[in-house]
Amino acid sequence: MVSDFGMPSDDAMDAEQAVLAGHASDEELAAESALRPRSLDEFIGQPAVRQQMGIVLAAARGRDEAADHILLVGPPGLGKTTLAMIVASEMGASLRLTSGPVIQHAGDLAAILSSLQEGDILFIDEIHRLARTAEEMLYLAMEDFRVDVIVGKGPGATSIPLALPRFTVVGATTRSGLLPAPLRDRFGFTAHLEYYTVDELTRVVNRSAQLMDVLVRAEAAVEIASRSRGTPRIANRLLRRVADYAQVSEHSSVAHQHARAALELFEVDALGLDRLDRAVLESLCMRFGGGPVGLTTLAMTVGEEAETVETVAEPYLVREGFIIRTPRGRVATQKAWDHLGQTAPDQQLPNGPAGGNLSDVAEVAEDSASPDLFTQ
Ligand code: ADP
Repeated sequence: MVSDFGMPSDDAMDAEQAVLAGHASDEELAAESALRPRSLDEFIGQPAVRQQMGIVLAAARGRDEAADHILLVGPPGLGKTTLAMIVASEMGASLRLTSGPVIQHAGDLAAILSSLQEGDILFIDEIHRLARTAEEMLYLAMEDFRVDVIVGKGPGATSIPLALPRFTVVGATTRSGLLPAPLRDRFGFTAHLEYYTVDELTRVVNRSAQLMDVLVRAEAAVEIASRSRGTPRIANRLLRRVADYAQVSEHSSVAHQHARAALELFEVDALGLDRLDRAVLESLCMRFGGGPVGLTTLAMTVGEEAETVETVAEPYLVREGFIIRTPRGRVATQKAWDHLGQTAPDQQLPNGPAGGNLSDVAEVAEDSASPDLFTQ
């Protein structure tokens, strides 16, 4: 059984509609659920996590106990929700789903905790975004399996301890650095999910294609996988777009050239860069001579919010070595110039941005780097 305590669609940006976004839109969540692996054996890649988790779960089953609390850390779209569902099914337990932003007050969490049954799995997505008071209640619940319910107000208020059945919290976070140490310490097992290789993503594409009843040729699957930024969610999304293209153009199977043509149509280039990524690189190189340039200025020149550029485009550009973040602003690397087919100027770090103005220069200093922000 799965109950959903108001799982939000990812608030992070409408740019989520972007074909290469790591987060899922509401409609996409429905399409995704059909493609989720249901067991650890079906789960592709992440060999270390699969093996470790297999042992943790088998041992708990052997003891006939609820499994230890599990923390899943990794960028969006790598399989955290899927793994939480797998934990529930491997343990033969019910799954309750909620997320940090939905729990605004300790009372919200108390209501969820007090409805749990023995052995239930409580999945808390974006656990780093829990309200502080809820976080404190969660420590106690995870450690001592009780909550203190406050009855009344002011000096007359009393706290009544309520015993909870043994349950398992599966927490997911994209930013483990934001999790307070006491909360992190309550998890008996932490799994760090890594980006997938092209080989693994090719397997994801082939598996999904089979489930969708779409015939995808081997080279087409590799083409989709190699433009998917190491992320199964993106691989599945690109597969759906390519399948749409093949269907509309009345091809009975997806051949290499169809995959390439479809991905070009949807503006996903050979290295997995989309329109916004390329606009950022072009602006950085062509307008600002390669930087350094501040985030706000860069975002303005591509007509996007600074937050969108920072959370949607930049993580992948940084991870793939197209740009680097310096205290003075963003700087293009040789790889960025090569990708644009341009020659870098001799002087890589100009005094001021070409075509910019003085306020651009001043803004360079204000750049905030979010060291713990996962790349996607
Ligand atoms: P997260 O919770 O980390 O954002 P999800 O678990 O929702 O990611 O996974 C997104 C999509 O990617 C799901 O549809 C799922 O089917 C697919 N997926 C993720 N990991 C794997 C995997 N290891 N093997 C196959 N499909 C996967």
